[in-house]
Amino acid sequence: MALPLRTSLTLCLAPRSRAFSVSAAQQANSAYKLVVVGGGSGGCSVAAKFAKKLGKGKLAVIEPAQTHYYQPMWTLVGGGMKSAEQSGRPMKDVLPAAADWIQDRVVSFDPSSNKVTTSSGDEISYEYLVVAMGIQINWDGIKGLKEALDTPGVCSNYSPKYAEKTYKELQAFKEGNAIFTFPNTPIKCPGAPQKIMYIADQYFRKTGKRDKANIIYNTSLPVLFGVKKYADALWEVVKKRDITVNTRRCLTEVRPDTREAVFVNLDKPDEQYVEEYEMLHATPNMSAPDVLKSCPDLCDAAGYVDVSKDTMQHNRFPNVFAIGDCSSLPTSKTAAAVAAECGILAKNLRAVMAGQKAQATYDGYTSCPLVTGYSKAILAEFKYGAEPLETFPINQGKERWTSFIMKKELMPFLYWKLMLNGNWNGPRTFRKLLHFGMGN
Ligand SMILES: Cc1cc2nc3c(=O)[nH]c(=O)nc-3n(C[C@H](O)[C@H](O)[C@H](O)COP(=O)(O)OP(=O)(O)OC[C@H]3O[C@@H](n4cnc5c(N)ncnc54)[C@H](O)[C@@H]3O)c2cc1C
Repeated sequence: MALPLRTSLTLCLAPRSRAFSVSAAQQANSAYKLVVVGGGSGGCSVAAKFAKKLGKGKLAVIEPAQTHYYQPMWTLVGGGMKSAEQSGRPMKDVLPAAADWIQDRVVSFDPSSNKVTTSSGDEISYEYLVVAMGIQINWDGIKGLKEALDTPGVCSNYSPKYAEKTYKELQAFKEGNAIFTFPNTPIKCPGAPQKIMYIADQYFRKTGKRDKANIIYNTSLPVLFGVKKYADALWEVVKKRDITVNTRRCLTEVRPDTREAVFVNLDKPDEQYVEEYEMLHATPNMSAPDVLKSCPDLCDAAGYVDVSKDTMQHNRFPNVFAIGDCSSLPTSKTAAAVAAECGILAKNLRAVMAGQKAQATYDGYTSCPLVTGYSKAILAEFKYGAEPLETFPINQGKERWTSFIMKKELMPFLYWKLMLNGNWNGPRTFRKLLHFGMGN
């Protein structure tokens, strides 16, 4: 029978989508071979590796968001080099077609009974579970910050909305203090709080405002960066650019009415500093997701999923794995780490599904392209123990145009085209080829 004209037109013109969210009736009390909680960088990449092989109805991704964001782009959004829109794609287009997308939020875990419960009250049971929920941003963890973000001068690259505001603040800046902060909690991409500062420095130079700007980096950390090689290189950059760096200085309050930021010296908590700002780029406090913290069986003391740092398998529940920012893996929380973790997790999960031991080992590889302006970056790559593990046989601690172009153009391509389709496990193979015959 011919389809009515309107229906056939809709079918022809509708954008090609990949995953469909399953209805509440379909998902209620259902059982899956594999459940992936979270459809961000880690969840989507893992799902892509398993969905086709397991087949329809065997794998579910539980993810509430409509839009999947490539968050590393937000640094460039803050600098006006990309738009927030370019950083996002509809979730249905990035999740694998062979997976059931349950568009809901997990509100509790019951690893002893192999099930999770969603906010609509449905219980989803699994044979194997991968937790990929990311890190939680606590916007109200710093007094006054949440409200201040909607007032002039205050911005943050840690959300697409406020990353766009960052660029507006750079444009609106006239003179005074431009303050950039790093909080006293673990965060994702620990380089991001200072990348935007270097971009701001160059923007002010480009627009003739640099001599009226006092650029200050107040970090809760005792160091500029956790890997000595790159910290040394960054100290050279801040000296050359006349940027003030205060370590162990933590933002505790924002007072938008008077445009003041309050800091405490973490080594001498009685010492407070009140600094006026013309522009304040704040990095919010972050923590493990509350829903994980409320399931102590699954987590370490800080609330991160308690997995082996080598195999990513849970330390008590062998059918549970974790990937990315919500895991206890003691490495820097980045999408680059997620790519490397994904290959190891997939090997180990396949082995466990086949009744074998998880034996593939993650070396802690992570990477942070430390953008130092509009045309250069230091390409930090390192592993467990804060030891450099560089892909290219050149000194990556140097500011280079090629590193910047990789960050701006190549990495988004790798992410959308390869990683989210389960085809990118990090640069290990290239590193081996490029270092062939060079020993370590
Ligand atoms: C400003 C900025 C700059 C960055 N720069 C870089 C960079 O240059 N290089 C780099 O490699 N990395 C960078 N990162 C870090 C990188 O984006 C993250 O480390 C990476 O996305 C982590 O992947 P993930 O899967 O663990 O978490 P996410 O990608 O954050 O995904 C977590 C998913 O879980 C979902 N979720 C949360 N709660 C629930 C729930 N209760 N139930 C179900 N689903 C849930 C969320 O909706 C989300 O989709 C940057 C991040 C930011 C914010």
